[in-house]
Amino acid sequence: MTQRDDTSHVHPPKRSQEPFQSLAMPVERASTVIFDDLESFERRVARLYDGFSYGLYGTPTSRQLEDHIAMLEHATRALIVPSGMAAIVLATMATCRGGDRVLMPETLYGPARDMMARFLGPLGIHAVSYDPRLDAGIAALLDDTTRLVWVESPGSTTLEVQDVPAIVAVAHKAGALVAADNTWASHLLFKPLDYNVDISMQALSKHAGGHGDLLMGSLAVRDEALFRRLKDTARFLGYGVSPEDCALCERGLMTMPVRMRHADATARSIMEWLSGRTEIAQLLHPCLPDHPGHAVWKRDFAGSAGVFSFVLRPELAPLQSKVLARMRLFRLGASWGGVHSLISVSDPRRDRPAPDWLKRGPVWRLSIGLEAPDDLLADLSQAFDLFAEGRRNGAALADAKAAE
Ligand SMILES: *Cc1c(COP(=O)(O)O)cnc(C)c1O
Repeated sequence: MTQRDDTSHVHPPKRSQEPFQSLAMPVERASTVIFDDLESFERRVARLYDGFSYGLYGTPTSRQLEDHIAMLEHATRALIVPSGMAAIVLATMATCRGGDRVLMPETLYGPARDMMARFLGPLGIHAVSYDPRLDAGIAALLDDTTRLVWVESPGSTTLEVQDVPAIVAVAHKAGALVAADNTWASHLLFKPLDYNVDISMQALSKHAGGHGDLLMGSLAVRDEALFRRLKDTARFLGYGVSPEDCALCERGLMTMPVRMRHADATARSIMEWLSGRTEIAQLLHPCLPDHPGHAVWKRDFAGSAGVFSFVLRPELAPLQSKVLARMRLFRLGASWGGVHSLISVSDPRRDRPAPDWLKRGPVWRLSIGLEAPDDLLADLSQAFDLFAEGRRNGAALADAKAAE
């Protein structure tokens, strides 16, 4: 049958499928998925968890990334979602109903805490904040309406380490599930499911994506019923992930261990330099022996990420913007895990109940990238010179004032 020109625009000639073998993840796109017969079309919903029924619910590309994440997390199932934030929303909404209570550490990722209060709160899901150092002490906060306990270890910005096994034990005893935001360590340095955590979540936007150009999150579980509840909820919420992004993430995963080891080594040399500087009131990284969470970190983690913080002396706060503006390699930005080094500035004492162990002053969080360590040190050093100049000028001003 000859076909007309319009038809030929949508029905190109079929090429013979000669074998093509590549090491790269194939990108397969679809909204529509077609079926060979009416019977399988009518039973397509049954393919939600494994097969293919519609592009939104999975493509060969997204399923392959999910299998890879499940393998790396020591899980049986993983779900890829559009962002780390989407993963936190999904895990909470799939496990909690109106009238339920969810516990979250004061160190939980800031936008997620805001979401719990302002989005899930009005839906009747009641979030209760707890001190991340309570560990088994969270038992006092568990009641029979508590469905879910979030942990984040080390915590965003201030890096408190939580005793995850102890928290899991008391939460399970009370009938609550435990979800871990494992973004800092990633599956490479800590495997929450090996510690009986029910849901391991990470923002793949960070270490896995690794280049600051990708947004994605994942949830990994060992319980099939829980996986299906998460997948159903993802469908109700209309979550889908583009296959191009999945392939980009897969490419990031392949170099992730090398990148993370390199960033860790550089971070350690930068911390050593910082520890000799008078501008710093406190260094925050669980690999440091005087960090309050060091012993638990050593017990549970396979290594450390190149993301850490320090507390600046409070009297230097007015000089911060000038010092940051003088940085050439370190850029001001609120993410981490990419090839570029970043600094983000915050004041945890303003955003949450005062952590009593934390020295006063602004907190700078550094995410170390792949630049040469000596260049990063030189950049910090020339910018920190401004602190010294500022202090001399400040002292001169104070002297002048005193002389008036
Ligand atoms: C970045 C981040 C998230 C959110 O991930 P997005 O993909 O940016 O939404 C969640 N938790 C932690 C600890 C993060 O650092």
